[in-house]
Amino acid sequence: MGMGFIHQESRFHESDQSMLNASVNNNNGTSNRLNQSHFTPSCFTYRFGAVIPIVKKPAAVLRKPCEALPIEEINSGNRKLQTIIDNMFDTLQATSSGIAIAAPQIGIPLRIIVLPIKGRLMALINPELTPNSGKKLTLESCLSLFGFNMHLKKRARSLRVNAFDRYGSKVTFDLKGLEATCIQHEVDHLNGILICDRQA
Ligand SMILES: [Zn+2]
Repeated sequence: MGMGFIHQESRFHESDQSMLNASVNNNNGTSNRLNQSHFTPSCFTYRFGAVIPIVKKPAAVLRKPCEALPIEEINSGNRKLQTIIDNMFDTLQATSSGIAIAAPQIGIPLRIIVLPIKGRLMALINPELTPNSGKKLTLESCLSLFGFNMHLKKRARSLRVNAFDRYGSKVTFDLKGLEATCIQHEVDHLNGILICDRQA
């Protein structure tokens, strides 16, 4: 998600932790699902993540529902999963106005998003949303649309998210404001939905 008129104040980064994680849990790092064709070649060029060209409409990967990751694959310390997440961080941070990103936007059809949670940039895997208050109108842009393409959307004002973090721990957050808007935008990406599909 991008918002030209809102500046992100803090861009903390989890990549340093992933390196630690990979060195501890390297014994079971292969998985059939993650060995398939979810990767661009440049994923393997950089140790701490790479800036991947953001996939733009009308690419097919933006339009199909993404696969959930089985918990065993998250818990295995899979280096490829950690690389995907590092790439999402680095790609997002290389944009001028992006505040959140979903895996299909770097060509990976898996249910992973990176977005601000409680003011800190964080990866969430298999996020499940439960809206818990009324609707609001938001004005959003998207890194996968060309130009400064703003769309009015109707979003839940606040919600709860249940997900896994990048280390396989269950996490729950209650979100409101910009963070609630962001996560609804990114979960739409995981379901193949873009903000231009339907006006509020
Ligand atoms: Zn978007």
